[in-house]
Amino acid sequence: MIVKPRIRGFICTTAHPLGCASNVREQADMTRELGTVEGCKTALVVGCSGGYGLASRIVAGFGCRASTVGVSFEKPPESEKPASAGWYNNAAFDLLANEAGMKSVTFDGDAFSHEIKRQVIDELKANYEPVDLLVYSLAPPIRIHPDSGERFRSVIKPLGEPYEAHTLTLDVLNGTGRLTPVSLDPATEEETTSTIAVMGGDDWRRWIDQCADEGVLSADFKTIAFTYLGNELTYPIYRGGTLGQAKEDLDRTCLELNEKYGSEGAEALIAVLKAVVTQASTAIPVVPLYFSILFKVMKEANTHEDCTAHINRLFREQLYATTPRRLDEKGRVRMDNFEMAEVIQEEVRQRWENINEDNLGDLADVEGFAEDFLKIFGFGRDDVDYDAELLDLTNVVRS
Ligand code: NAD
Repeated sequence: MIVKPRIRGFICTTAHPLGCASNVREQADMTRELGTVEGCKTALVVGCSGGYGLASRIVAGFGCRASTVGVSFEKPPESEKPASAGWYNNAAFDLLANEAGMKSVTFDGDAFSHEIKRQVIDELKANYEPVDLLVYSLAPPIRIHPDSGERFRSVIKPLGEPYEAHTLTLDVLNGTGRLTPVSLDPATEEETTSTIAVMGGDDWRRWIDQCADEGVLSADFKTIAFTYLGNELTYPIYRGGTLGQAKEDLDRTCLELNEKYGSEGAEALIAVLKAVVTQASTAIPVVPLYFSILFKVMKEANTHEDCTAHINRLFREQLYATTPRRLDEKGRVRMDNFEMAEVIQEEVRQRWENINEDNLGDLADVEGFAEDFLKIFGFGRDDVDYDAELLDLTNVVRS
């Protein structure tokens, strides 16, 4: 079978096994080149198959040389249908980690469910040292509540009043885009509550409580979840919208976890991360335009980072550094310092105000955005022959 990208808007329904494996290998190599980090020994990464969760697992494994257990919700291949990109990333990670002599196992299923927590904890009890780092990096569209069976859907909407702006509509395969208007009605109270149920802190707390109760966490464990703040351009749709409410719930959960477990030496943290192209972030309206302007400005200033570079900096400069952390007034680790630098933000603001169809390619990194998007699915790499026939869709190793 020959696998080509099949794209609808910001969704790609195919993924290339060898391209995904090359992505993971490249991220592992990049991490190894930065040297060893004195950090975690056993990491559990919930949301391990893409974006910031995958990068965290790679840095825990190939930076700290930790054993890792991953949890994600990915689809295996079917006879004529490739697996999801995350499934290939997991397969490639497990293979590379095992080759490098590190223990690694991945569970695919719903992280919100009692069943997956049970399976993961049983595995940890049987085969792993206590977890000293739990990374919580989920970005799910829905949650089936594990106790009530109720189904919650996360919506990305403003609060209070409608929001109108422009966004970037991308022609991924040509690396071009156009500006299109978006108009979003404000969320209802029910939609806001639902989004908090999906993207807030309840499930993070459940993972920590159950792992602690069942003795699979070390007394001095660290746990970290990720958030985004952004600026006034993204405020109505992100921090000031339904997602922002969910992220505030995550902030509250962090405080509660510290109150509950802090006296034993454990630590819960929220890291404010920079904008990167992932499956989750491209689903947010308006964000693609802001991101592509931001990337161009940050690349020009030489401060742009991809997921792996960013998470390497998080581990090496903040999480496991001996120097004081860069915290804000809410105690969050600020990794978005390059993105939020005033000189960057001022330039982004100027370009946002002046951008139009004619200067889009000059003011925004539309091509780079399209490349990053294709790369999530293992496409657009120079080292993969995309015309070659694949005989086995489960194989992430070049034959
Ligand atoms: P992503 O889409 O790349 O990854 C999401 C992960 O969640 C995948 O591993 C997926 O399999 C997993 N997942 C989703 N639903 C699941 C379920 N029910 N059970 C098990 N696994 C499930 O997302 P991302 O952008 O890396 O986001 C991760 C976190 O980082 C989120 O909290 C997000 O808000 C935060 N963040 C992202 C950005 C950004 O620009 N992408 C910036 C700052 C913070």
